[in-house]
Amino acid sequence: MAAHDDLLQAMADMPVIDAHEHVPEESDRTDNPVDAFTLFSHYTETDLKSAGMSPAAYERMQSPKTPLDEKWELVAPYWERIRYGSYSRPILIAIRELYGFEDLNRDTYRPLSEIMQQHNSSGIYRHVFRDLCHIEKVLTQIGRIPTTDRDLLIPLLPVSLYFEIHSAEDLRSRTEAFGMSLGSLDDYLAAVRRGMEAWKTNGAVGVKMSAYELPCPSPEDAAAAFSRIMTGQAPDAARVLSHFVHHQMLDIAGELNLVVAVHCGIIWDNWNNPYTVHPSNMVPVLLAHRNTRFDLYHAAIPWYGDLGVLGKDFPNAYLNMCWCHVISQQMSQAALDQWLDLVPVNKLIGFGGDYRKPVEKVYGHLQMAKEDIAAVLSRRVDAALLTATDAIRIARMLLHDNAAELYAL
Ligand SMILES: [Zn+2]
Repeated sequence: MAAHDDLLQAMADMPVIDAHEHVPEESDRTDNPVDAFTLFSHYTETDLKSAGMSPAAYERMQSPKTPLDEKWELVAPYWERIRYGSYSRPILIAIRELYGFEDLNRDTYRPLSEIMQQHNSSGIYRHVFRDLCHIEKVLTQIGRIPTTDRDLLIPLLPVSLYFEIHSAEDLRSRTEAFGMSLGSLDDYLAAVRRGMEAWKTNGAVGVKMSAYELPCPSPEDAAAAFSRIMTGQAPDAARVLSHFVHHQMLDIAGELNLVVAVHCGIIWDNWNNPYTVHPSNMVPVLLAHRNTRFDLYHAAIPWYGDLGVLGKDFPNAYLNMCWCHVISQQMSQAALDQWLDLVPVNKLIGFGGDYRKPVEKVYGHLQMAKEDIAAVLSRRVDAALLTATDAIRIARMLLHDNAAELYAL
């Protein structure tokens, strides 16, 4: 117990890199009203619907126009069903430690809403990320470069912005955006490179993709597909060209030192097939792009053992526990424990909140991450596999140093 408590104590004000969020500029949050039910956005939405709440009822509960008492009646039966899961813990931690309420219930939703709205003003990012969480930088994905809060928000951009191709017009407009004209596939690829260089110049440190199966068309097939798209014969040709451009972008990312972040495993909303983003789809990609570094997300839950083997085998594969601790603390601890056996410790990234609007939940998520790290490392200290000093050093690598090094922050 001593090692566990000492580790938690040592992590209390450790600097943190939040290695994955979807948070936009602070004004995006503060320009819109919030109430207690804002805390149900992102992730708990999935559990509420899984527990039987209808999408229409969820939408009504999230609407600023719906009266608070009606919102409570809509969510109350389902809150009782989901409140014991990991997704719900950051809500309970936020209302207790940030807002001073014991529980979210019939008596508290109204005063909690008032206090949340009072706090929904300029400075809330600094308060939550910096003062409470000691987070130095937030790697964020909002599909564009943030316009403010750039000392905190460090962007990653989706590769789909260039590889998603439906028509000749997509190719032409993106090429002409750089004052170039489109005569060949090489012209488009030159524009893609210019675009990615601009991302880098504007402070992006990486790009984002998902672990869907990614065929690898030949340059000849890609050139033929380009010609067919330019003459208006689209769908299957567009798919071939998209795959080719995607692979080209992974090489350009390597040349520009942009890390490729990859969604692996569990998908956040309802009615999805997680097997379509199984980490095994990444094996040919890791093999084909050896000079590009890949940050494999979410421990590929539930396939964290598979992901550990990829992290062990492939020098270009890094493993990231963003989102994991609120999916399952048991699975997160098992993943980290297995990875410490398998993977060089510099390749493990321990935390990313993965939220958008409810930034309060980042605080609870980080606490859960620290609990998981302390549980795993302290067991190894107690078993004399680690010294207490090494455990603290590894905790710091997981929370800060490894992400700072991979993303050159
Ligand atoms: Zn995410």
